[in-house]
Amino acid sequence: MKLAMIGFGQAGGKIVDKFVEYDKRHDSGIVRAAVAVNTAKADLMGLEHIPKDQRVLIGQSRVKGHGVGADNELGAEVAEEDIDEVQGAIDSIPVHEIDAFLVVAGLGGGTGSGGSPVLAKHLQRIYTEPVYGLGILPGSDEGGIYTLNAARSFQTFVREVDNLLVFDNDAWRKTGESVQGGYDEINEEIVTRFGVLFGAGEIGQGGEVAESVVDSSEIINTLAGGGVSTVGYASETVENDSSGGGLLSRLTGGDEEDDLDTAHTTNRITSLVRKAALGRLTLPCEIEGAERALLVMAGPPRHLNRKGIERGRKWIEEQTGSMEVRGGDYPITDSNRVASVILLSGVTNVPRIKELQQVAIEAQDNIDDIREESEENLENLINDDEDELESLF
Ligand code: GDP
Repeated sequence: MKLAMIGFGQAGGKIVDKFVEYDKRHDSGIVRAAVAVNTAKADLMGLEHIPKDQRVLIGQSRVKGHGVGADNELGAEVAEEDIDEVQGAIDSIPVHEIDAFLVVAGLGGGTGSGGSPVLAKHLQRIYTEPVYGLGILPGSDEGGIYTLNAARSFQTFVREVDNLLVFDNDAWRKTGESVQGGYDEINEEIVTRFGVLFGAGEIGQGGEVAESVVDSSEIINTLAGGGVSTVGYASETVENDSSGGGLLSRLTGGDEEDDLDTAHTTNRITSLVRKAALGRLTLPCEIEGAERALLVMAGPPRHLNRKGIERGRKWIEEQTGSMEVRGGDYPITDSNRVASVILLSGVTNVPRIKELQQVAIEAQDNIDDIREESEENLENLINDDEDELESLF
C-alpha cells in the first residue's frame, strides 16, 4: 500500500529516512511521500534520503532549533503552534494517491513523543484516509523520564490514530553494543518487518500474478477498529531457480517430485508461520485474544502455495481465538528468501505496557516529591535561619 510517512522527532525521522532507502532498494513502492518534522535542526540535517524541502523545523521561536530536551509537553505545544508549517509540507503530497498516513515517532523523547499525537489528531480532522502511528517504546534502561514520557504519549497517541503499531526497543536491545550501532540494527529490523507488511498490498500492477495476493484493503481492514498492533516475522533462505519447477522434475516430468516439492513448501510455510507468531514480536504480548490478524507470505512464487497459507491462517485462528484472520501472498520473483509476516491487531494482553505504566507512575511520584523537596531546600538555603536579612527588592 502507498503511504505518506511523517517522521516526528529524531527516531521518527531516522526511521522514515530508512524506509525511503528500503523503498528504493526493493522498489516496493510503499513510500509515496516522506516528511520529517523536528525541533532540532541538527537532527534534520543528519537525514540522508528524505528530500530537503520535506524537512520541517518547528518551534524556532521557542527553542531556536535546539530541540525540546525530552520535554514532551513542550513538544506537544510547539507542534500545535506550528502545525501550519507541517501542513505546508503535507500540502505537496498527492493525498488522493495514498492509502494511509503513517506517523512515526520514538515515544520516550520530547519532540516526537509530544508532537506525534498532535499531528495525528490534525490529520484525522483534515483527511479521510486512515492515520496510523508507529510508536517506538524506550528501553527500560533509559530511565524514568523516558518511561514516563512514553507512557503518557502512548495513551494519547492510541486515541488519536486509527491503529498504533508498536515497536519496543527494550525487547530488541542487545547488550555490549554502542547505542548508535544498536539503533542501526534495530531500525533495519523495523523497516524490514513493516516494509514487507506494507509492500504486500502494493503488488499487482505488472507484478507477479499469484494465487491469492494480499491487497491493501486487507491491511486496512485488519488495522480497522483501532487499538494496538504488533508484528511477527520469520524468514528462511531458499534456492531460487526462477525458471519454474526443479531441474529433476522437469527432466523426468515426474509428478512425484512435484508432490514432494509441494509438501516441502507447505511444511516450510507452516513452520515459518509458527516461528513468526511465537518468536519475538515488535511488541511482545500474548497473541491469544488478538482481535484481527493478517498473514503475509512473501517470497518467490514457486515457494508459496495456497495450502500452506491456508494452514497457517487456520493455526493463527486457533492460537488467537480470532474469527478475523486474513492471509495471502506477496510474490517477489527475484528474492532468495521466504518470509512470513504476521500482523496482530487489537492486542490487549500486553504485560510490557502495564510494566511501563507502573514505572511511569513511580517516576512521576518521584519527580513530584523531589520538586517539592528541592523547593523547600532552596528556601532553607537562601534565607537565613532567623530571617534577619532582607532582600534588596
Ligand atoms: P525526540 O527527537 O525528542 O523526539 O527524541 P528521540 O527521537 O531522540 O528519542 C526518543 C526515543 O526514541 C528514545 O528514548 C529512544 O528510545 C528512541 N530512539 C532514538 N533514536 C532511535 C533510533 O534510531 N531507533 C530506534 N528504534 N529508537 C530510537
